[in-house]
Amino acid sequence: MSEFALIRTHFARLGAERGDVVLGVGDDCALLRVPPDQELAVSIDTLVAGVHFLADVDPRALGHKCLAVGLSDLAAMGATPAWATLALTLPAEDPAWLGAFAAGFDALARAHGVALVGGDTTRGPLSIAVQVHGLVPAGQAIRRSGARPRDLVCVSGTLGDAGLALRGLLAGEAVADFPRARLERPTPRLALGLALRGLATAMIDISDGLLADLGHILEESAVRAGTPGGYHGPATPGITGGLRAGAPGPQPLGAEIRLADLPLSPSLRAHLAGTPDWALPLASGDDYELCFTLPPDQVASLAALSERLDCPLTPIGRILAGTEGEGEGETATRVICRCPDGSTWTPPRTGFNHFPDPAPDPAPAPDPSPNPSPSPSPEPKPEPGPGLAP
Ligand code: ADP
Ligand code: MG
Repeated sequence: MSEFALIRTHFARLGAERGDVVLGVGDDCALLRVPPDQELAVSIDTLVAGVHFLADVDPRALGHKCLAVGLSDLAAMGATPAWATLALTLPAEDPAWLGAFAAGFDALARAHGVALVGGDTTRGPLSIAVQVHGLVPAGQAIRRSGARPRDLVCVSGTLGDAGLALRGLLAGEAVADFPRARLERPTPRLALGLALRGLATAMIDISDGLLADLGHILEESAVRAGTPGGYHGPATPGITGGLRAGAPGPQPLGAEIRLADLPLSPSLRAHLAGTPDWALPLASGDDYELCFTLPPDQVASLAALSERLDCPLTPIGRILAGTEGEGEGETATRVICRCPDGSTWTPPRTGFNHFPDPAPDPAPAPDPSPNPSPSPSPEPKPEPGPGLAP
């Protein structure tokens, strides 16, 4: 089959029919109509075989997942999905594989009103890039940068199930259906993202692990704290996330997370009962739940929202000014994990990093002094393997 026949057969009409697609697959560009009062939210994610997924994964699940991770980004901004493009690199033409992949993509796209409007098809090691395009009323997107001290830190769904499934698969163990579905067919929380517009002060989707992604909220919010307009209003003209001359400097932010309050599935609870490994819910990737911050007086709205959306929404901690808690003001993005007994838990890793800092080279000679100074680097090092990247 030629490249063009392959595109026509499998990808010409995937997803929803939309009136705002002036021209879809088949020309040099798609033509799309953006309403004048909306902003276009755009995000792209690449999934590489052996890095982001096991090469023998069910192609239907893969078709679902490669779109789901992009839709999760739209959810995290409070955007409504509209269009997608798909860049596919395939080692060979396998009609059965392509049909299943396209069916998985199509089902999720239709469920959320997304039209596939274009893409690119090449030969090479299996890799999939999906760009998603969503719409959000101008000025209403929920950014990472609006968190304030005393805000509640909340998460949707349950944490760590995908990490649990991946650990089992890599160990060649039997994996229960629920965690496996969470890894292979994640649910983008689009209705929740929309419902949180005007309510959440900051939001991110949890793709790299809660601690890493909450860390991004703290960093971005620290930069904008003290600058007017950082709080879910329209962007201050001329500010793109950096500091404005004359504005107050970054206000360090931290967070306290109560481990006893983490929302955990029965599978994860059973696992943790055997091995109290908090890294699974806190630092394993691929959950695609939303982490958001909420002013403390909005806590009452959570329960009603959770019921309406049929999705667990759990307050798990709060944002701290960087000078609160222990180790006062040490870093701008400190997350304290509080155990039920009041002690703190230090994570061994905070998430996956595709480009970790190179190890020191060569290894330094042992310090001959009888009183070596304490290690100057308390920051946990990411552990890229064994495993897959989110
Ligand atoms: P060009 O060479 O002009 O970039 P291509 O030959 O790559 O165009 O693609 C032809 C048409 O098919 C374009 O409209 C493109 O967007 C679409 N297309 C190519 N690959 C895919 C794909 N995997 N999924 C959806 N549309 C695709
Ligand atoms: Mg062209």
